[in-house]
Amino acid sequence: MARYQYFYTCPQCGTHLEFKMRVTQTKRRCPQCGWRIYPEEIDRQAEARVLARRARERKALPYAIAIAVGALLFCIISAFLSSR
Ligand SMILES: [Zn+2]
Repeated sequence: MARYQYFYTCPQCGTHLEFKMRVTQTKRRCPQCGWRIYPEEIDRQAEARVLARRARERKALPYAIAIAVGALLFCIISAFLSSR
């Protein structure tokens, strides 16, 4: 199982960060530019990643169907040819 992590991209400088905890007692800042890191922003980015993944899956679905239909046709044709 993957480690439980929170990923964060600094909106100010684009640095990618990983957190083990969503919320800490101390205020966190970007190590590159000092941008204040809020848990709400971590949540927002996590949600955006889920939506992006769903959009990718929707885009990949027609290709998956085309491959399945192609494989089925190949089976039918090869069965037809071998039966002659
Ligand atoms: Zn930064």
